[in-house]
Amino acid sequence: MAKLLVCDPVDSNAVAALQQTGVEVVVQDSITLDELAEVIGEYDGMVVRSRTKVREPLLDKATNMKVIIRGGVGLDNIDVEYARGKGIKVLNTPSASSNAVAELAVGLMFALARHISKADASMKAGNWDKKKLKGTELAGKTLGVIGYGRIGRCVAEKARALGMHVVAYDPYIEHEDIIPFEELLKIADYVTLHLPHTEDTHHLLSTGQFAIMKQGAYLVDAARGGIIDEAALYQSLSDGHLAGAALDVYSQEPPQDELLRKLVALPQVVATPHIGAATQESQGRIGGEIVKLVQEHLA
Ligand code: NAD
Repeated sequence: MAKLLVCDPVDSNAVAALQQTGVEVVVQDSITLDELAEVIGEYDGMVVRSRTKVREPLLDKATNMKVIIRGGVGLDNIDVEYARGKGIKVLNTPSASSNAVAELAVGLMFALARHISKADASMKAGNWDKKKLKGTELAGKTLGVIGYGRIGRCVAEKARALGMHVVAYDPYIEHEDIIPFEELLKIADYVTLHLPHTEDTHHLLSTGQFAIMKQGAYLVDAARGGIIDEAALYQSLSDGHLAGAALDVYSQEPPQDELLRKLVALPQVVATPHIGAATQESQGRIGGEIVKLVQEHLA
């Protein structure tokens, strides 16, 4: 019987379903990398989320491994090419969290437009700052979506339903909404990021790009830390060029270095702790897809 190690927390219904697949399932969802290195050779498959880092030295010990399943989208915690070079399949659950991330991105735009976090904090402090909290509306504004894959297009659909005008930039696909990168930066009232962090996209948005963006524009990043040059963003917000930013992802998570702490603390920043995919529905769908992948590739 094939042995599967679940290394990170997954939906409890999915664990129960995995146990019905005819595979021996071991759940050690807080296992350390040292502990994992000791036992990984015994397993034919493993399930990880983003916590467990599956790097080359660990893979060298995974002598029986046939499949690594990442519950979620990003594969940046796995040395994918190295694993594939050893004949190990690396699979993910690409669509399961699209709607959750898209809803968060739209929620973050509302939070920016209507100062929702600021209003809540002020109420909790016993204030009634009605006059200081005049916002703007999303309807009629232009949204620039950078990265027009699953999540980007899902955000676009929701934004159109809200009366926004949508344009997009993505060099790898053809779509009628796509316009040149600089043109998007020039005309968008909101820019939202939905692309992977790679060598090519590292600091895709930095001082030069922020300068091209409209005075008073807003930026939303629920994609990956590293795509935005956070020092340049801090400067643009402090200078009053960009009106605000909403961030779910950071180059360091949790953000500890001084610049990141200062960025998160700016009153014009709305910050969330990488919760894009963290909905009950999304976790359930991720679990369901993991079970399907185990049935197809291991059972
Ligand atoms: P996807 O692969 O469907 O779409 C990504 C798109 O980005 C592709 O169409 C690709 O062509 C495009 N792209 C690549 N390089 C680009 C560039 N230089 N400029 C513009 N576009 C470029 O992926 P998806 O499912 O839509 O996910 C998008 C991103 O969201 C993922 O990379 C992931 O890191 C992030 N994500 C975040 C969370 C969260 O919790 N905040 C959860 C899930 C996914």
